[in-house]
Amino acid sequence: MDYKENILGTIGNTPLVKMNKLVEDLPCLVLAKYETFNPGNSVKDRMALQMIEDAEADGRLKPGGTIIEGTSGNTGMGLALAAIVKGYKCIFVISDKQSKEKMDILRAVGAEVVVCPTDVEPDDPRSYYSVSKRLGEETPNSWYVNQYDNLSNTKAHYQSTGPEIWEQTDGKITHFVVGVGTGGTISGVGKYLKEKNPNIKVWGIDTYGSVFKKYHETGEFDENEIYPYVTEGIGEDILPKNVNFDIIDGFTKVTDKDAAVYTQRLAKEEGMFLGNSAGAAIKGVLQLQEHFKPEDVVVVLFHDHGSRYVGKMFNDQWMKDMNYIE
Ligand code: PMP
Repeated sequence: MDYKENILGTIGNTPLVKMNKLVEDLPCLVLAKYETFNPGNSVKDRMALQMIEDAEADGRLKPGGTIIEGTSGNTGMGLALAAIVKGYKCIFVISDKQSKEKMDILRAVGAEVVVCPTDVEPDDPRSYYSVSKRLGEETPNSWYVNQYDNLSNTKAHYQSTGPEIWEQTDGKITHFVVGVGTGGTISGVGKYLKEKNPNIKVWGIDTYGSVFKKYHETGEFDENEIYPYVTEGIGEDILPKNVNFDIIDGFTKVTDKDAAVYTQRLAKEEGMFLGNSAGAAIKGVLQLQEHFKPEDVVVVLFHDHGSRYVGKMFNDQWMKDMNYIE
């Protein structure tokens, strides 16, 4: 018999899929690391499990404990699945910008969800950073995960996602392109790949309204770069410890409109029904095309599934209201 002990055994070992129509003007091979095949439908299952196992190992998370996190949804899903298998409770703090589907999905897997306003400063007591921190202090036998600064996040990608991409491309990968939020994915995968071959280029996808690109280029944390944006999952108004700027060769910013339009195009032209950050990532690959030569192998990582965006990027009325389509 061939089976997994529980659902957590299905995390990782996701396929690599060739991109076709959307990249037909590019000279090189473009391969998508297709993370929605994880049981929680996103790459974040990997780091959620790693963070929990590391916290169990050093006693931060104890039997019957409560896991508390400020999460935009996917990390919450990964934590919730692991919590069910391992017997923990979950409280997630989420910003009101996130899709209703994401909140409903977290509640469906047994988590308590607390919703906070988006348009307040991170140090405002109403912000989701502040609320999740406070709940962590007030709830007995609880563990505050902090995916932004918890380096088990990067470690998960260094130990699983990076090696998988290296092996699946027979070491032929020349460029890795990925959206950056907490920075765990780019930093873990990027570090592993550069240790294998320092010539591999690592590009981050950023949003307009986020600090990463400017900070990477100038070393300046520019408050003027911070304003509300629509794209989900990537960009930040803080510098998470998981973003290792040294292993990143550059960032390109994708507009909210382009990210939304390319999320639809991935579904309609490639049969890839994926989340909003996948749209941003593939548009970012197209923006970087001057860097690619015919023999290059570009891997772009797609973080999550389209079902979480049916009320937004896959709703034509919403797309019209946003002036993203005619
Ligand atoms: N896309 C989506 C949909 C996400 O949930 C996240 C995580 N915030 C990212 C991209 C960015 O990944 P990371 O946090 O590893 O930088």
